[in-house]
Amino acid sequence: MTSTRQDTPRRAVETVALGLPTVRPGAGSARPGQAAAHGPGTAPRVAPGLVDRFGRVATDLRISLIDKCNLRCTYCMPADGLAWLPRSRLLTGAEVRRLVRIGVEDLGVRELRLTGGEPLVRVDLPDIIAAVRGDHPELPVSLTTNGVGLAKRARELAAAGLSRINVSLDTLHAGTFERLARRDHLDEVLAGIDAAADAGLRPLKINAVLMRGVNDHEAPELLEWALGRGFELRFIEQMPLDADHGWRKDDMVTAREVRERLRTRFRIEADRAARDGAPAERHRVFPLGGGEQLGTVGIIASVTEPFCADCRRTRITAEGRVMSCLFSREETDLSALLRSGADDAEVADTWRAAMWGKPRAHGMDHTGLGDEDFVQPDRSMSAIGG
Ligand code: SAM
Repeated sequence: MTSTRQDTPRRAVETVALGLPTVRPGAGSARPGQAAAHGPGTAPRVAPGLVDRFGRVATDLRISLIDKCNLRCTYCMPADGLAWLPRSRLLTGAEVRRLVRIGVEDLGVRELRLTGGEPLVRVDLPDIIAAVRGDHPELPVSLTTNGVGLAKRARELAAAGLSRINVSLDTLHAGTFERLARRDHLDEVLAGIDAAADAGLRPLKINAVLMRGVNDHEAPELLEWALGRGFELRFIEQMPLDADHGWRKDDMVTAREVRERLRTRFRIEADRAARDGAPAERHRVFPLGGGEQLGTVGIIASVTEPFCADCRRTRITAEGRVMSCLFSREETDLSALLRSGADDAEVADTWRAAMWGKPRAHGMDHTGLGDEDFVQPDRSMSAIGG
């Protein structure tokens, strides 16, 4: 195991005043989350779930099934792709199933998202979904995909037990798609979206990243298209997670700009309902001239209006490493444990310890994205699992 998190505090609870919720002091000297089930005489379980030093509890599990992708989006991948993991290093379907079971049964995970790379590239995707669904009939299981090949597989995925789907779509124009994704697949993606909607994979969410001078002018058009089909569009601020390290804070399209662009065609109102840990700030959308609500739009302002204090995510990479944060520079290997015969309790404890060290925000305890001492992680979004 190559855990880099050996420094987990021995004290069960600490109060850290950084504007974040804190773990309430409790009895016992166990490590946070130490499970009572580990045997008689152990300390009471003070934090059964994936709690961190700031009192956040991760209940939303994202597992990357593969690092490989069939697009080369400029904000994520280099033109020539990356050195893909050999198949032997990818979590097997059985390992994914076991991690989900440990997450749900021992660590309080309440929802699962399968991602990548491109998860549709995994031929055993329906089997993985069916196995998880068999173990956890009530667990919401969603998929994030670029939609390439989805038209052929949407029904099979729904039948296997997938609850819903997010499809990434940054543009409605073939030339712009090719410029952004370096591949000519727009029609295929649009067909995949229709097939997913027909298969009942709803609510269907569309993820869009806007790049200045490329597709940022398309914001209102994308929203009109999504509203007309009953999809929820979410704009995601571009984060410094591109393999080319070309991200510049001054050049990214901000949430504020997205709102301004949308207001040229719609009236949008921030939704007062509690955000409840969701990354997207939802806005209700109305026609400019007045009238009934047309739908909603989400804006994920990870850079300019970060929501780290509410983060509930725990991520596992395609090779089985826990990343407590997208920007974390520390990873904890669970696959070595799985492959060396560790029991569930050992895996759960290691996972808990990894999450205890979750940084305050954006991979750090003290600074923000794009600040002088921000260091971009080596992994791109595709190699983490978005
Ligand atoms: N291949 C799948 C897809 O395209 O949806 C799943 C993986 S992809 C990494 C997940 C999401 O991350 C996509 O919606 C993509 O647009 C987004 N993404 C990738 N790089 C990003 C970046 N640098 N900033 C913001 N979002 C990014």
